[in-house]
Amino acid sequence: MYNKKSVEDIAVAGKRVLCRCDFNVPVKDGKITDDKRIVGAMKTIKYLVDNGAKVILCSHMGRPHNVLNAELKLSKKEKKKIDELPENEREAATAAALEKAKGDITKLSLKIVADDLKAKGINVTLANDVIGPDAKAKAAALKDGEVLLLENVRFHAEEEKNDPAFAKELASMADIYVNDAFGTAHRAHASTAGVADYLDTAVCGYLIQKEIEVMGKALEDPVRPFVAILGGAKVSDKIGVINNLLEKCDTIIIGGGMAYTFFKAMGLPIGTSICEHDKLDLAKDLMARAQEKGVNFLLPVDNKIGREYKEDTVCMEIYSDSIPDGWMGLDIGEKTEELFAKSLNGAGTVIWNGPMGVSEWENFASGTRSVAKAIAESGAISIIGGGDSAAAVETLGYADKMSHVSTGGGASLEFLEGLELPGIACLNEKE
Ligand code: AMP
Repeated sequence: MYNKKSVEDIAVAGKRVLCRCDFNVPVKDGKITDDKRIVGAMKTIKYLVDNGAKVILCSHMGRPHNVLNAELKLSKKEKKKIDELPENEREAATAAALEKAKGDITKLSLKIVADDLKAKGINVTLANDVIGPDAKAKAAALKDGEVLLLENVRFHAEEEKNDPAFAKELASMADIYVNDAFGTAHRAHASTAGVADYLDTAVCGYLIQKEIEVMGKALEDPVRPFVAILGGAKVSDKIGVINNLLEKCDTIIIGGGMAYTFFKAMGLPIGTSICEHDKLDLAKDLMARAQEKGVNFLLPVDNKIGREYKEDTVCMEIYSDSIPDGWMGLDIGEKTEELFAKSLNGAGTVIWNGPMGVSEWENFASGTRSVAKAIAESGAISIIGGGDSAAAVETLGYADKMSHVSTGGGASLEFLEGLELPGIACLNEKE
């Protein structure tokens, strides 16, 4: 289990602290549509400010791949594409590509985040670049308790390449590195991991600390019975998690599209349901291992099936051994809702990742909703993996009834797989 130092374990007063946050917020028509990630970062930011650090915030937003070094330069790939055009078209294509890059700089600038932080009471200045002269001058001029936000770190292609020279430049502005961006902790990028090679003091913020504590405890020393409930479209996305949890859980519940790969492997008819035909042996192997280990492995007993993959398709409920030709499973059925709720009742720890059906369509959201309700009412320590399940508990109003809603979809999956996350591994161990 990770045993990492946090901001509270070090002295930050008077120090320049580079704090990697996850400000990758959704923006529509020039407005932030969900500020959860910024709200989530506030505790660490406030702690650093209140304790007299000179705070340098850093984050990515979106994927501004055609903007290099926060300037209007075209990537090699784009240049090559333009070079392949007939000569008389190149000038116009270059102008169009540059215009698009300009749009991306405006659209993906962290100015919108700076404005939101200001509205939340943080007196922050935005740098016009990331490691350029403006950022460096503003970082050097910071006084204790002041806050600077660097521009979108992905304006540099070097960020995602974990380029050592870029990481070193970032680190040169600070004395201490704080990582609080759990959502990108599974990526070895310059600002999420590489930078720690150049700063002796590297610790986590409150967000990452809570993720490690709650999920680490569940994996190492869970309150039992320990139940995992996994859904979503594909078995292949969850193999690692199922493998790891087979060693640790008392019950594994499978719902969502991936259940049909297991049914197919059992020789049941699945109609036109989603199925990974190349994963049938794997599904058989997982079920055999569950049996060998005495893990209760539950699949849906009935399903809500439709004629087409369409929100308003004609639908009905049917037992899992009787899905007719030409029909597809799109949600778990009512009897399965009851069965899963019963299995969750009395659990000590529950981990949930992935919807029980095509929950973005109201007609097929019932299974996901009932699982969210059953977890909320179970009294168990409840951990909701990021992504679709986190969105589901929020929309359904159960988020504050859960012990922990993870702030990272991909990162929480990798954590539950037992993989080492580079953005956490690079931090100082507690003595
Ligand atoms: P994942 O990203 O693997 O957690 O999968 C989430 C996606 O799985 C959602 O977009 C759901 O629409 C989809 N999904 C869940 N159940 C089914 C199903 N029975 N058939 C097709 N897609 C499904």
